[in-house]
Amino acid sequence: MRIFSPNDADLDAIASLLASGEVVALPTETVYGLAANALNPEAVAKIFDIKNRPATNPLIVHTGSGQNYSEWVEIPELAQRLIDTFWPGPLTLVLPRKTPIPDCVTAGLPTVGIRMPAHPLMRAVLDRIPFPLAAPSANPSNYISPTCAAHVKDGLEGKLQYLMDGGECNLGIESTIVSLRRPNDPLLLRPGPIPPDAIEKVMGCPLRIRQHSSLSDGPMDSPGQMKVHYSPRTPLILVDPSEETPASCARIRIQPEDAQNPAMVANPSLRHFFLSASGDPGECARHLYKILHLADQSGADSILIDRPPHKPEWLGLADRIHRAAASGSTPH
Ligand code: AMP
Ligand code: MG
Repeated sequence: MRIFSPNDADLDAIASLLASGEVVALPTETVYGLAANALNPEAVAKIFDIKNRPATNPLIVHTGSGQNYSEWVEIPELAQRLIDTFWPGPLTLVLPRKTPIPDCVTAGLPTVGIRMPAHPLMRAVLDRIPFPLAAPSANPSNYISPTCAAHVKDGLEGKLQYLMDGGECNLGIESTIVSLRRPNDPLLLRPGPIPPDAIEKVMGCPLRIRQHSSLSDGPMDSPGQMKVHYSPRTPLILVDPSEETPASCARIRIQPEDAQNPAMVANPSLRHFFLSASGDPGECARHLYKILHLADQSGADSILIDRPPHKPEWLGLADRIHRAAASGSTPH
């Protein structure tokens, strides 16, 4: 695997590789993405192959600020307001699709999930190319998403040829997804870093919140929302914070009980981990996947994780924790 660094020569090389239909793993502010030219079906097919992702799960299209994204999607008025406020940033909009976006990107849907990422390196790449990038998370399908280059390398070694090391992702969980397929009935498909009340405030109307589809759902109006997702290989079990931890288990807590000693990732050899020093939901989100990776590698029989608080600002993180802890096998 060739690892690129954040400098102009490497960014130019990445832009050429993408233009010739290659797949490159790139950092974004949410998680690392596995990027290819969204207008080139052969390049997009490589993403599905590398991730072993089912063809029924559509990809998010990433656009740059210099690109004319209205060539690829319709932009209703509410969408424009959200774009003006939250782009570049972790908000994906599901919008009516225009012809240049191929079927394989949208899994045949008449809509496209699109966002403008804020990460400076991802933006620097998009500034160098005339096409948008389809980019799902750079991990094997259904495993924990990557928040640093080492996660990408560990998960895709032998399958992926090109990776940009841009350090750790700042937000740490995937984008918030809002569908405007019905332009006057906005629907939250996936909670994420931007909370629903911030979106409602900008739109000036209510945002319906979609519940998880069950695993037995037929063709999905919004695929990729299966309950089991993002899971570690070790069984992950939600528990109350007061629950004891058996010796054979790893334990992930929201924050240390001892405020005098707020060390993060207390002691991997003791299999005891904290998502934050302070109990701040953004800090917990930033660290969640890193700690799930560490706990998964700890050799524990199972991982116990504190049930997150039932509060709006915890919605995105609680969604990822609940999905990672959902038991049973995936349909793919
Ligand atoms: P990610 O796994 O972060 O790459 O996000 C991809 C997810 O975005 C998919 O699994 C879907 O849930 C959602 N998505 C992308 N495109 C669409 C679309 N056209 N309609 C509905 N959901 C979409
Ligand atoms: Mg993913």
